[in-house]
Amino acid sequence: MTDRYAVFGNPIAHSLSPKIHAFFAKDTGEELSYEPILVPEGRFKETAREFFCDGKGCNVTVPCKLDAYDFADILTPYAEAAGAVNTLKKLENGRIEGDNTDGRGLTADLKRLGVKLDGAKILVMGAGGAARGIIRPLLDESVALVTVVNRTFEKAKKLAEHFGVQACSYEDLSANYNVIINATSTSLNGTLPPLADEILSKASFAYDLMYKPNGETTFTKKALEKGCTKVADGFGMLIMQAALSFELWRGVKPDVTKAISYFRAC
Ligand code: NDP
Repeated sequence: MTDRYAVFGNPIAHSLSPKIHAFFAKDTGEELSYEPILVPEGRFKETAREFFCDGKGCNVTVPCKLDAYDFADILTPYAEAAGAVNTLKKLENGRIEGDNTDGRGLTADLKRLGVKLDGAKILVMGAGGAARGIIRPLLDESVALVTVVNRTFEKAKKLAEHFGVQACSYEDLSANYNVIINATSTSLNGTLPPLADEILSKASFAYDLMYKPNGETTFTKKALEKGCTKVADGFGMLIMQAALSFELWRGVKPDVTKAISYFRAC
């Protein structure tokens, strides 16, 4: 029987994951199926239990990442740190392992883009689920400093305390960062976080977790206009986090550069 994988979420029809994993499977010669599964509100546990009768693994997206965290029998340190799970895998003994590949997807993409993380001063904007998932993988890269800034300062403070990093308000930030990461949801509706222009002009790299077909988001556009020398959207992160899930399930590394070029051209 073909090994069965899936992505869980609600809504789910828009998800690119089935196409990405079909590409990886074909490219690596792995035989598997991968389907989108719509999770009815409040029914993650039942839906996942049914899937794992024969399913081998799944990705989990909005709004089910916390449910998947609770569902997993064991958690990787990345899932523990993120407090959320985006990948579930059925182990040989039948137990379900929960991982979170989002943050490692980001650091892998930053490396692909040639961003120097060792010794870098990093500003993370936002204190939601995505921000929480990326801080530990960033700290694993020997960065010099991570500061979390958020519209609701209390949330930045809580997150920063959890990881032992700095929290700041937008008003009190100084222009002292090499890499600025937009982990807010502002680009989704074409707005911007209230970051001073000077901070963007002094940074060498700006990354938006949000992605667009043409690679340009409201934030990357503004960063370039203000003199930041290099920018990227989060499309590479999307492919990288999928590749890490695929490798966890299949033990095979997909060709991410090929996948990024392929999907960018679609
Ligand atoms: P959440 O809803 O959990 O958090 C949203 C964050 O944005 C909060 O910190 C919120 O601040 C902040 N925010 C919203 N509006 C504004 C505003 N007008 N000004 C300043 N801050 C604002 O979202 P997620 O963390 O789940 O997702 C964030 C982004 O990351 C999304 O664009 C998502 O698409 C992207 N993402 C990309 C991935 C990829 O693979 N490329 C993976 C995961 C996420 P406050 O606390 O004050 O409300």
